[in-house]
Amino acid sequence: MGDMVVVRKEGLYCVPGQFYIDPWRPVDRAVITHAHGDHARVGHGHYLSAASGVGVLKSRLGQDIHIDGIEYGASVEHNGVRISLHPAGHVLGSAQVRMEHKGEVWVASGDYKVEPDRTCVPFEPVRCDTFITESTFGLPIYRWESEQSIFDDINGWWRKNAAEGRCSVVFAYSFGKAQRILSGLDPTIGAIICHGSAEPLNRVYREGGVDLPPTKMVTDVDKAALKTAIVIAPPSAGGTTWMKRFGDYSDAFASGWMQLRGARRRRGVDRGFVLSDHADWPGLMTAIRATEAPRVIVTHGSIPVMVRWLRQVGLDASGFNTEYGDDEADEVVAADVPEEAGNA
Ligand SMILES: [Zn+2]
Ligand SMILES: [Zn+2]
Repeated sequence: MGDMVVVRKEGLYCVPGQFYIDPWRPVDRAVITHAHGDHARVGHGHYLSAASGVGVLKSRLGQDIHIDGIEYGASVEHNGVRISLHPAGHVLGSAQVRMEHKGEVWVASGDYKVEPDRTCVPFEPVRCDTFITESTFGLPIYRWESEQSIFDDINGWWRKNAAEGRCSVVFAYSFGKAQRILSGLDPTIGAIICHGSAEPLNRVYREGGVDLPPTKMVTDVDKAALKTAIVIAPPSAGGTTWMKRFGDYSDAFASGWMQLRGARRRRGVDRGFVLSDHADWPGLMTAIRATEAPRVIVTHGSIPVMVRWLRQVGLDASGFNTEYGDDEADEVVAADVPEEAGNA
């Protein structure tokens, strides 16, 4: 039997099912793991995603896309392939795609994170014969602290700035990372201001039942209150006139790449918080082992390193070249990444 999933110029393709997973070119049928821009693109005929991801996808791709949502664990059949979606713990609505055909099971992970958080359903290992895994942080140097200890650091930094009458600015991607940070902020310290690009996503998260602290638009906060406020803004807002109103602020980046020596300095921010929505190295290894898959196919990230490592532990490992990007590299200077992370 041939491989159930192959790479075509349009994207990952399920051969018997005749559909694509997170395709990078327009196709008729696309199963979407999550709404980050490199996985969810415009122009497909039909979309299928986790039910909890439909709101986010519509908010990002347009309300008029043809999309079906299915609950985690429920299944639909397409050309003899049974498709079900399982929590990936990455962002709201993120899913792994399980495909079963004639008794064989493949799972495509999309992006995933093993540590549970308050903004999405926790990662669930799914047993399979072949596991297609991401490898964004697929080097042994990447090991995350618990998210609570990172939130404690962020709140401690914010509290100190507020006591000194200085505004705090955290640069973070508007979808996923922004809400993750919000979920850990202590609203008793001061006002929480979100850039306009994050607010529509905050609304979708709240509608999806995620408990986020109250957020304000900058125009709703008076000048005195800005001095004790925290601001969540996309990296693209850095250096723009939008930032000027915050005066002599202290700034920070929140990303897994902040574990790299020099990344904070090169980005020119005061603080780096190592907070990622992806699995760290131990997380990747735990997740792969939990699938019990004898065969593993590695995508976007550290493909050669992961493949070598997985072969050493006796697995049948190989790589897929995809056009997925890196949702966390967008948060630092992309050029920081290859030299130190050893990305291929
Ligand atoms: Zn992602
Ligand atoms: Zn990705």
